[in-house]
Amino acid sequence: MNRIQCLSCGHQALAFDNFMDLSVEFPKKAVRITGNIDLSECLQKFIEVEKMIDCGYKCEGCKKPVNVEKDLTIYRFPKVLLIHLKRFYHSAMRKEKLNTTLVFPTKLDMSKYAPHSSKSIIKFLIFSRSSNKSEG
Ligand SMILES: [Zn+2]
Repeated sequence: MNRIQCLSCGHQALAFDNFMDLSVEFPKKAVRITGNIDLSECLQKFIEVEKMIDCGYKCEGCKKPVNVEKDLTIYRFPKVLLIHLKRFYHSAMRKEKLNTTLVFPTKLDMSKYAPHSSKSIIKFLIFSRSSNKSEG
């Protein structure tokens, strides 16, 4: 669920998408540290609230360009959820690949990534590695 909230009047614009998979990125610290990253940290990054200042977004509530905050959470889980890991990041000069080891929990409570969903437990998690193809 895409949520955009006006920081001026509090009006929320919601959008729902059906999805079968999530593309998650590694947290930025994965670039610096050597060690393991837990999948939950990638999911945490996925649902992070992003503030957009002077983005030109026009609020439907107050009918003027406003600053907004935006987040993305899971509203309804598909039967099988596929999680893509984006192992590539852009450094100053080129595309680099992260070799960070990712720790997979055997069971993951997804409820905090889906605060608006009533069904929040999924039984199976399937993981895939991102391919070498370039991502925009
Ligand atoms: Zn507004």
